[in-house]
Amino acid sequence: MLTAATLKPEIETYAADELRLLADSVALESVHWPIFEQAGVEVSIRRDDKIHPLASGNKFYKLHHNFASAKRQGLKTLLSFGGAWSNHIYALAALGREQGFQTVGVIRGERPRQPSDMLLDAEAMGMTLHFVTRLEYRGKAALEPALRRKYGAIYIIPEGGANLLGALGCRAMGESLARQEFDAVYLPAATGGTLAGLAAGLADGQKAFAINVLKGDGTQVPDTRMLTRALGNCRDNWQLIDGYHCGGYAKYPAELQDFVQRFELASGLPVEPVYGAKLWWALSDMAAKGVWPQGYKIMVIHTGGLQGRRGYSPY
Ligand SMILES: *Cc1c(COP(=O)(O)O)cnc(C)c1O
Repeated sequence: MLTAATLKPEIETYAADELRLLADSVALESVHWPIFEQAGVEVSIRRDDKIHPLASGNKFYKLHHNFASAKRQGLKTLLSFGGAWSNHIYALAALGREQGFQTVGVIRGERPRQPSDMLLDAEAMGMTLHFVTRLEYRGKAALEPALRRKYGAIYIIPEGGANLLGALGCRAMGESLARQEFDAVYLPAATGGTLAGLAAGLADGQKAFAINVLKGDGTQVPDTRMLTRALGNCRDNWQLIDGYHCGGYAKYPAELQDFVQRFELASGLPVEPVYGAKLWWALSDMAAKGVWPQGYKIMVIHTGGLQGRRGYSPY
């Protein structure tokens, strides 16, 4: 759970203009997939995966104001937490290198004999990898004093970039969408930070729906509500949808893999396996069930993370 201390009102002092301009430059494309066409729904996608060549998708937005905050505080080292295929750790390493920060990735599990491509890339981008046992990782807040002793003055970003500044960055996507015409925007959710930020930026009457990739059934709802309220959004304009986790976080069963292969071939869109796959799976299922009326206009966020495709066969 987040505490009031992590939700400082100082966020409003960050100029969000630069990020807003970038968010406005993201391409919108129409999505062609027979199931949508049969259901009579029009689906478009924001290609936020293309916002940065390495730090793609929502992780770019989540890091933006965190980097600005570290800079303002004169901190030169950024530290965060993640697993062996974390898109967040990858984005942190890439932006850190680009903006001249030292970066430390606290990684769940002992150093493997053959580290994942993500970990090797992060190291190649200059990140220091700090491996901790799964047990230590679970209690990672308790590691902070030792990490501060070891790495000195560090700016700590929570796992997944899921703090208020992270959500503030994601608001830029919602603000950009506020000028678009559609009936609902769909995205995937793990912590719900992206959903919270995006919902805060939407125009009145627009609604965001997020497909939960976690098995926990809505455990993120209180944090999502707290984040979006802290951004001044008290509207009931977002919802988390459960039931499409396909066995749990990062599970990629054969049936889902088959679906993704067919979807990529037909639509020409690259699908990221941990989040995007379940999002498109859910949208196809809802379309087939006739959840939306004819002519319904759906906007989808490509939350990026395509580097993670390397972690899954057949890629
Ligand atoms: C991290 C991530 C998400 C989840 O974002 P939350 O803000 O934690 O809900 C979605 N998609 C991709 C590709 C991600 O890497």
